[in-house]
Amino acid sequence: MQIDSFKANSMEKRKGSCLCGTVKFETRGPIKGIGSCHCSKCRKVSGTNGNAVFLVASNDFAWIEGQQNTLEFAFPNGWGVTRCDTCGSPLPASHDGKQYWVPAGLMDDPLNTEMKQHIFCASRADWDRESADSKSFDEFPI
Ligand SMILES: [Zn+2]
Ligand SMILES: [Zn+2]
Repeated sequence: MQIDSFKANSMEKRKGSCLCGTVKFETRGPIKGIGSCHCSKCRKVSGTNGNAVFLVASNDFAWIEGQQNTLEFAFPNGWGVTRCDTCGSPLPASHDGKQYWVPAGLMDDPLNTEMKQHIFCASRADWDRESADSKSFDEFPI
């Protein structure tokens, strides 16, 4: 059984990286779902309507390169963000040593999961909702 679960995990490696590619990491095993936080701090971190992240156990997370190329910001209570010191992408972080919070948009491989929850919805920006005539395009509209 142990061999089987190890094989299953090694088949499910996914790579992630920052915008400039200086920082690279990988996750192992299935990703259980993505959660998006809409709090005012997460909006500032992303510059958009929230911060979509997933959790992986520390054993299933590994830095590949560039983990020393980081810039950290934290409030006195410890809430903060770690970024690539070259391009500014927010990076995975572990606050308790047991698991990593991984910004989902850093991933280069398909995650084979879906958005499962939205939190701090009471703090959503007033524009953070779909209008009835909202349109989607595969690329820039012509
Ligand atoms: Zn970078
Ligand atoms: Zn938040």
